[in-house]
Amino acid sequence: MSVIHLVILSPSSQFFEGDVDMVTVPTKLGPIGILPEHYPIISLLVIGTMHIQTGSVIKYFAISGGIISVQQDRTLILAEAIERPEDIDVARARAAKARAEALIASKDPNIDLVRAQAALQRAMNRIRVHDEHL
Ligand code: ATP
Repeated sequence: MSVIHLVILSPSSQFFEGDVDMVTVPTKLGPIGILPEHYPIISLLVIGTMHIQTGSVIKYFAISGGIISVQQDRTLILAEAIERPEDIDVARARAAKARAEALIASKDPNIDLVRAQAALQRAMNRIRVHDEHL
């Protein structure tokens, strides 16, 4: 049976390498599922949950955007940041969420609203992945 050879790189390390049966990643148009022998694509990833399935085991991760490249011999994910549920520091994510919410609520014209909204999305995503998949 064919498998996907998956490599996930984060800025600081090789996060994962192995053969898996299915990869699902968040994109602007919603989640996309990659099965073995998927046609080649390159797509931008957004903040969300990704999961990989090997046999009956599904592993979930919080991903904060990146790029996926599906090639014939391997699928490569370059993640801006990625965490396993058990590695997520919820107190840190809650603090990041509160900071972002306060910035957004301040309506200060000097704040970078897009940046604050992205920080809020990352924090909420981490909290959700931790709470739903630990
Ligand atoms: P913070 O403001 O708390 O740093 P952030 O969203 O700005 O959050 P990122 O820039 O996305 O953080 O990530 C920087 C690094 O910290 C990455 O390696 C990421 O995996 C890690 N990281 C960020 N938040 C958490 C968290 N709550 N738990 C575990 N690791 C985290």
